[in-house]
Amino acid sequence: MIRPIPVKRDLIDTHPTAEITLAELPLRPELVGEEPYGAPQLDVPHLLNVNENPYPPTPEVVADAAAAVAEAMSTMNRYPERDAIALRDDLAAYLGHGLTAENVWAANGSNEVMLHVMLAFAGPGRTALGFAPTYSMYPEYARDSHSRWVTVPRRDDFSLDLDAALAGIAEHRPDVVIITSPNNPTGTSTDLATIEAICDAAPGMVVADEAYQEFARVGTPSALELLPTQPRLLVSRTMSKAFAFAGGRLGYVAAAPAVIDALRIVRLPYHLSAVTQAVARVALKHRSTMLAQVDALRAERDELAEWLRQQGFRVAESDANFVLFGTFPDRHAVWQQLLDAGVLIRETGPEGWLRVSVGTPDDMAAFRTALTHAVGDPGGTTMTTTTEENPR
Ligand SMILES: *Cc1c(COP(=O)(O)O)cnc(C)c1O
Repeated sequence: MIRPIPVKRDLIDTHPTAEITLAELPLRPELVGEEPYGAPQLDVPHLLNVNENPYPPTPEVVADAAAAVAEAMSTMNRYPERDAIALRDDLAAYLGHGLTAENVWAANGSNEVMLHVMLAFAGPGRTALGFAPTYSMYPEYARDSHSRWVTVPRRDDFSLDLDAALAGIAEHRPDVVIITSPNNPTGTSTDLATIEAICDAAPGMVVADEAYQEFARVGTPSALELLPTQPRLLVSRTMSKAFAFAGGRLGYVAAAPAVIDALRIVRLPYHLSAVTQAVARVALKHRSTMLAQVDALRAERDELAEWLRQQGFRVAESDANFVLFGTFPDRHAVWQQLLDAGVLIRETGPEGWLRVSVGTPDDMAAFRTALTHAVGDPGGTTMTTTTEENPR
């Protein structure tokens, strides 16, 4: 018997799907009340909130990438190369340290690489451990992979406290430890001896997330140096920051070949599109051009930190392309005043702190002017105080 489907006629014009609210859906309980990752994407002149490289690719790189996309397009009826071998070869060559494609895994941003790590090595009944304050996405990877997320606090200067780390590892026996160096949102680097001691103590995998490594002060060693002696270490990198390739979505990790094999088990088939592989290879071929502004950004960061200190702010030591500063009784008000002046920064980190990415000299001038205006606001609620009066 065919029964007519009852249709609310008045809805047809406005809604192409049935009416239901999120609250009525049988969502996984741990997702109830959660919101999608949402750093604001606003159309303002000075975008200093997600640590992008402010310099776009040169016309030469753009032309080369366009040609590579055209070539990839000619075989777009076929699935892409599943294991992205050529790209992984190029990434290994960029990293050096004798690494080959077998030691490298790539995915759509290091966000996806980290999800692969969690899917392969964490999961139900397992635990991942990080050092707070740190990157806000880790708890989400843990949630999405049904893993438990625990943190060990950093010291007051945001450096990693090895004794506390070892105690946390002994207590939680984490399956995955994530050391973010330089750390986001603080900019703090962790020395190799500390990373090595954590590798020695950790019962499972250890990830050194080096998303900002290219911005570290000259002479800061990479955890890549530990790979020959640490079989359960993964060193994660991204092309989103120093490489000026955030829109290309390419993250990667270096580790022992067996670790890479584990990540290959959990990846979706053909996860990395032919277009992504082609343009990432072009960007790597032009690495000296893509990375040309890193020295300038590093110098700009140091000047910015120095200027903020001169204004009486607390400033976290930074080896990244951003600076965490504070503290403000009402940081949201300061953030809003900067936004009103066309300068978008990030409300993140411990209460009272704000994070600003390093932009062009023009961006930085606008930031300084806007901040001076915001905190100079007579009788306003946004006045900052000195370190002595307001220790975090
Ligand atoms: C920005 C960032 C990443 C990189 O993210 P992508 O997905 O590669 O864009 C990874 N880790 C940290 C700590 C970051 O700040």
